[in-house]
Order: sequence, then C-alpha cells, then structure tokens
Amino acid sequence: MTTTLPEAALESAVRHAIAYRRGLDVALQRPLQGYAEALAAFQAPLPEQGEDALAVIEDLVRRATPGLQACSGPRFFGWVIGQSHPVGVAADWLASGWGQNAGNHAAAPAAAASEAVAAGWLLELLDLPRESSVGFVTGATVANFTCLAAARGEVLRRHGWDIDAQGVFGAPPLRVLIGADAHATVFAGLRMLGFGEAQLERIDTDQQGRMRPAALEAAFARQPRGPSITVLQAGQIITGDCDPFAPLIAIAHRHGSWVHVDGAFGLWARACPARRELTDGIEQADSWGTDGHKWLQLPYDSGFAIVRHPAAHARAMAATASYLPPLADAERDPSHLVPELSRRARGFAAWALIRHLGRQGIADMVERHCALARRAAERLVLEPGVERVHEVALNMVAVRFGVDLSDPESDAITLQTIRAAQQDGTCFVGGAQWRGREVMRLSVINFATDASDIDRSVDAILAAYRAQRVRR
Ligand SMILES: *Cc1c(COP(=O)(O)O)cnc(C)c1O
Repeated sequence: MTTTLPEAALESAVRHAIAYRRGLDVALQRPLQGYAEALAAFQAPLPEQGEDALAVIEDLVRRATPGLQACSGPRFFGWVIGQSHPVGVAADWLASGWGQNAGNHAAAPAAAASEAVAAGWLLELLDLPRESSVGFVTGATVANFTCLAAARGEVLRRHGWDIDAQGVFGAPPLRVLIGADAHATVFAGLRMLGFGEAQLERIDTDQQGRMRPAALEAAFARQPRGPSITVLQAGQIITGDCDPFAPLIAIAHRHGSWVHVDGAFGLWARACPARRELTDGIEQADSWGTDGHKWLQLPYDSGFAIVRHPAAHARAMAATASYLPPLADAERDPSHLVPELSRRARGFAAWALIRHLGRQGIADMVERHCALARRAAERLVLEPGVERVHEVALNMVAVRFGVDLSDPESDAITLQTIRAAQQDGTCFVGGAQWRGREVMRLSVINFATDASDIDRSVDAILAAYRAQRVRR
C-alpha cells in the first residue's frame, strides 16, 4: 500500500526538525498545548491497516508541534536542560539511521570505538582518574544508580560478602550517608538497590545545601567502622553549589567509605579553569555520575557512569552468555558498564560534539553560563521585594518575590509571578521550594543563550511580578 518511499519520511523529518529549530528564537518558550490537549491530539483507535510512510510522519509533526516544549530555546530556563546541540543531534540521527546496537564491540565496532575514545576525552575534560571506566547511560539517574551498584558490590566484597553469589538479603548492614539536599533521583536509585529511606543517614547541610564536614565526621564518630557509602554532590539543584569535596572525601576515606559524587551538571565546573576550584578534591572520589544532556548539550538521552575501579564497575553490570564476547576479553565492552545490553549508540554524538566544541569551547560555554546567571540574579534583585535565596555559585538562580510582605503572601506572589511569566512566554522559568518557601528557578544552561536573552527574560519576569503586585 506504500505510495511514497520510506526515504521520503527521513527527508521530511530532517526538514521539519530544521524548521522547528530555526523558529525557536522567536517562538513562545512554552508549549501551546497542555498534556490533556496533546493526548486528545494523539488519541486514536489501533490502526488495522498500515498507512503511507510520509503521511504518517507529516501527521506526527502536525499533531505533536503544539505540545512541544521549547527545551532547546535560548530563553528556556526550566529544570536543567541543555540545548540538544545541532552537531550532537546530527550524530544522533546517524546513530539511529545506521541502526547500530551498541551492546558490544563485536556487534557494533564503530559504535564501541567512538564510545571508548569519547570516554577517554571525558576523563581528560573532567580531569578524573584516567584509569576509570565510563558507561554511556541515559542520564544522571541511571549513572548514579550504576555507580552505586558498583559501590554496593565492592564495599560488601571488601567485607567478605559476595553479592553476586549471596545476594543483598542477609548481607552485612551497609550504611549510606547522604547530604540532606541531595537530588531526588539519587534516592530513587538507592531504593532500586535495596536501600530503604529510613536506612539512609542524611547529613546536615549549610545554607547553600553543601554537606557540613563536621556533620559527616560526627556520623562516623557514632559508628567508625563497617561497610559504608558516602554520597556527595556537585551542583545542588536549587543553589548550584558544590560540597566541599577535599575535607569530606578525606573524612569518608579515613573510615573506609566508598565516595560517590552526583555531578549531573556541577561536575562540568571542572571543565572550566575559572570555576574548577569548586570541585577541588573531587578527583579523590571512587565514582561520579554526570549528564551529557545537561551542560555538554548532547541530545536526550545521555549520561555517564564513571568508576575509578573498572573491575567493580563491570562486576555490577556485565551480563555474560556464550553468544556474547567474554567479560575477560581485553576490549572495553559497552554493555559491561551499563544496566542494558541492547541500546542506542550514544558514543557517536558525544565524540562529534566534543570534537566540535573542543576543550576551550566547553570551558568558555560553562563560564558564559555562570556569568549570565550572575547577570540575571543581579538585575532581578535590583527590584524592590526581590531576593535571591543563595549565593550564585554556578549557573543556577533561585529568587523569591514580595519578600517585604508576609511569608504566605510572598509564597503566593512568587507562584503567581512564575505562572504569569510562563504564560507570557518570553522565557520559561520554573518553581520549587527551598527551606520551606516557594522560589522561582532559572537554570542558564542552553548553548545559544546570550546576554540579550537574559535581559529580555529579566524584563519579562519583572513585568509579570509588577502586574501581580498591582493586582493585590
Ligand atoms: C538532573 C539531575 C539528576 C538526574 O538526571 P537525569 O538526567 O534527569 O536522569 C540527578 N542529580 C542532579 C543534581 C541533577 O541535576
């Protein structure tokens, strides 16, 4: 029944994607539709008969476009979302077009090779121990999960328990010490690994959300020995700040603890000489999870699980079978470092984008985003009643509105300002709670964002705020 060639569908996809990207600078930085309308646009009975390839793709574009979030727009500051840089997107299209299964180096030599080389580049960019293994995963959630699985197995092995043979149930108690302001997804990863919420020891943090060394020291003083994992953080989701790694890691290692760092975006401070100081000592840790689709600007999905002890990493993740390359094989096998066997070839995009930007381009971008975040914060707090709730350490800004009013009124006006700014659509900002109060969050992390985007966005946010105040 096909009337057009399937190739026409590929060409159409390219044309539509390019047109969409071209329009982002002038488009509203929010979707035109919410979820309910988007669902209605897609809702249809199961098709009994197939349809023409090009017609299906054209119809997909028509139905999806109003519900697209402008994540790659230059004034999109919601959550923590990179640009999906065109060079990464192009390489990623090829990964799909080539249809490579990156499961092992025998099945997909070029995919495995691009990963191996990009892995080495990442260790250099982030200046982490060069002997570390790097698994290419979907994002920081799975990166942290993967690293913590390696940690769990290795720490128990050092205490005489073979988790692969004996399992988790009945194992010696394994403590997890984690900062009180750690990211929600780390807790989800720990749950999947068999750690209950009540078992975790939350270590006190300061105003910036950084773990206090004295609090970690006190936790170990209560119980100095026994297997443990300490989870630190580079880039707190509200303040952007980083734990003081040198003292914290020294304390944890003195007590034989494995140190894992969730560095979803903050680890990239290390790629920038001007910001590197924030991560001093981080190279002493045992494992690091980070994202490719945040500060590195790779398209979704992309994350990296980095482990100083490659054998522990592979023991936690590798599946072996007679039809797969053996684990003892000297080659780096992509599937030995991630939870999946079959998956997309993420190495092509990482390799291509690092080549395109270069070490200098990445450093300049990180520095530019930090300077732009500072510019946004400085301009916002010039307005009476606007207050930032933290020091701007990296690329994150969180502010409250109407702080001259009562706390409940300030919360209400902050929420209304966020809603009104989103509705206006000049920029997209999100909300969150910090220390019990509502805040507006801006995450400056899109490659295309420049000073004029920041200024236009601040003007729009302040206009939204003033309108809310007048209405009260
Ligand atoms: C974004 C983020 C995560 C989760 O990363 P995903 O890529 O969404 O899986 C974890 N920790 C921090 C600090 C983050 O910012």
